[in-house]
Amino acid sequence: MKCLSTKATSIKPSGIRKFFDLASTMEGVISLGVGEPDFATPWHICENAIHYMSTGHTHYTANRGLLELREEICKFHKEHYNQVYDPENEVIVTIGGSEAIDLCMRALLNPGDEVIVLDPNYVAYAPSVILSDGVVVPLKLKEENDFKILPEDLKKVITPKTKAMIINYPSNPTGGVMTKEDYAKIIDIIKESGIYVISDEIYAELSFDQPFASLAQFDEIKSQIIVVNGFSKAYAMTGWRLGYCMANKELSSVMNKIHQYVIMSAPVMSQYAGIEAIKNGYDDVLMMKEDYLKRRNFLVNRLNRMGLKTNMPHGTFYVFCNIQSTGLDSETFCERLLQEQKVACVPGNAFGDSGEGYVRISYAYSIDHIKEAIVRLEQFLKDLEN
Ligand code: PMP
Repeated sequence: MKCLSTKATSIKPSGIRKFFDLASTMEGVISLGVGEPDFATPWHICENAIHYMSTGHTHYTANRGLLELREEICKFHKEHYNQVYDPENEVIVTIGGSEAIDLCMRALLNPGDEVIVLDPNYVAYAPSVILSDGVVVPLKLKEENDFKILPEDLKKVITPKTKAMIINYPSNPTGGVMTKEDYAKIIDIIKESGIYVISDEIYAELSFDQPFASLAQFDEIKSQIIVVNGFSKAYAMTGWRLGYCMANKELSSVMNKIHQYVIMSAPVMSQYAGIEAIKNGYDDVLMMKEDYLKRRNFLVNRLNRMGLKTNMPHGTFYVFCNIQSTGLDSETFCERLLQEQKVACVPGNAFGDSGEGYVRISYAYSIDHIKEAIVRLEQFLKDLEN
């Protein structure tokens, strides 16, 4: 038999999966690992999908997605974030934010083009760069800067070969955010270098403490920004596989060609669910957000009290907890915590080299579940000391 693609075979499996495969073979494990809401999709959203399915709306849609959905998306983004896009030519409804990220890389990259990937950051970015023949250039983020991008650090990693940068704020895994003032400091660098920025804003609605900010709010660089967003996190709709991307007309039409041949259109029933979510689901979003906030406050307080230094995350449903005081590396910490106390979290190095010395803890779990995990974690730390 002939050999498989070198590019595809060389990609490492996700460090998150590897760990959860191990946890799934054990009894009585409490997980704080998963990155999806514990809430069920609000029922009125499901009902809208059922209604359209039961009345025969079971076909392909326009490649870019139902126009009504694109219009609602644009209306929402204008009202909530002051981001302005044309529903006809600048929006594509995709199979989750995941497809949108892949489309960006395929549409932008030529072999050897460099893409700046924040480190630590979401596990899918580097593989999607590599699969599109790009070269990953890490930009290391630091806990003492709240995992933000600093202008001096950004300047250092831009070269003539840089085509794009992919960012994600609020951030998985750090919970870090960039404010409008933080972004203002890097605008000139982005403009002068002419690079594209793929801004994965999937956790935008889960911004706490300060308003959500985006590079797409700055007119002078808006044409260089591609906004990726979706329904998975804010509306608890991970299984519906519904996301979208917004970009300038020319880029969006190139992305749409790829989407057309590979996907045709996102699932029609999910699109009808999405229309209901974005039109009438905002109260649900706020209700879930309030609950996440309570859990965050409880968790961060308890982690710091037990001696695990943890920055206050201003978004998402993750905390990135510093475990360096234990003297263990991230993987050993997580493996021993799993074996000794049956608590599963994700080693920070799964998100890049700079994640070493941290673990990602998700609070997309009920407060009782989190409380039980915390008791076990405390016991684990006591046993380590003895
Ligand atoms: N971006 C980030 C930062 C994520 O955390 C995730 C999901 N874990 C995604 C994108 C993919 O989301 P979707 O379900 O929309 O494909």
